[in-house]
Amino acid sequence: MHIPRKRFGQNFLHDESIIQTILSSIQVKANEHWVEIGPGQGALTSPLLTMGVRLDLVELDRDLVALLKNKFKQLAGLRIHSADALKFDFSSLVEDNEKMRILGNLPYNISTPLMFHLLSYASCISDMHFMLQKEVVDRICAGPGSKKYGRLSVMMQYYCAVEPLFDVPPESFDPAPKVMSSIIKLVPHLQSPVQVKNVSSLNRLVTQAFSQRRKTLRNSLKKLITEDEFTISKIDPTIRAEELSLSDFAKLSNLMQAGLDPVL
Ligand code: SAH
Repeated sequence: MHIPRKRFGQNFLHDESIIQTILSSIQVKANEHWVEIGPGQGALTSPLLTMGVRLDLVELDRDLVALLKNKFKQLAGLRIHSADALKFDFSSLVEDNEKMRILGNLPYNISTPLMFHLLSYASCISDMHFMLQKEVVDRICAGPGSKKYGRLSVMMQYYCAVEPLFDVPPESFDPAPKVMSSIIKLVPHLQSPVQVKNVSSLNRLVTQAFSQRRKTLRNSLKKLITEDEFTISKIDPTIRAEELSLSDFAKLSNLMQAGLDPVL
C-alpha cells in the first residue's frame, strides 16, 4: 500500500468512469508510441497497456517505480524510467523518427515548467494530454479580452493548438485535491500560426506586458517599445495587454528585435 506523498503532488485517480473517459478521449491506436509522465500506481498505465501501445513511463518517486516494475513485470514494449520529468531528455525516447504521444495526470506544483520543458521537444511530439488544475486549463485556453488571458495563454498558443476537453471533480482522486481539475489537449504546431523572429523576445515582451496588466501598453512596455515602433505596428499604445492577440504580440516582438539589432 503506497501512502500518497504531498511533495510529489500525488493525487491518484480512482474513478473508473473518469479513467475510461480519459482513455476514450485520447483515441489510442495499437502500436503507437506513448509516454506517460507521473504514472503513479498505474491508473492510466494499465488500460493503456491493454491497447497494445509501446509505452515509456517517467516517474520520480522510487517507491512507485519499484511498484510499477513489479506490477508490469517484463511486459514487451514497456520501459520504466526512474527520473525527474523536469530534467528528462525526452528526445532520447524517440525511435525511428516517429513522433510520440504524451499523457500525464501531472503534479500540479510543477505543471507549468513541465509543459514548457516538453515544448522544447515539440518537434518529436504529436500531441499531449494533461490533467491540470481547471484554473490552469482556463488560463492556457483564454483569448484576448478575458481576465484569464495572460502570458501562459499567449506562449502556449504560440507553440500549440490548445483544446480543453472536460472537467474532473476532486472526488475522482485519492486524496481529493482542493480544486477542480480538467483535461487539456495540446497539439504542437507543425508551423507556427504567427511569424516570430526570436521566441525569447516574444516571451520577454509578453511577460513585461502582463506583469502590469492594468497599465496601458505605452507605460508597461516603455523600456521595450518606442513610440515610433507603436506607430509602425499600428497598435494603439493606449490599450492594455489583455486586448492584444498573439499576432499583435508577434508583430511588436519582431519590431523590438529590429530595434535591438544594430544592422537594421
Ligand atoms: N497518473 C497517476 C498519478 C498521478 S499523481 C494517476 O492518475 O493516478 C502525480 C504523479 O507524478 C505521482 O506519481 C508523482 O510521484 C509523479 N511525479 C511528481 N513529480 C514528478 C516529476 N518531477 N517527474 C516525474 N514524475 C513526477
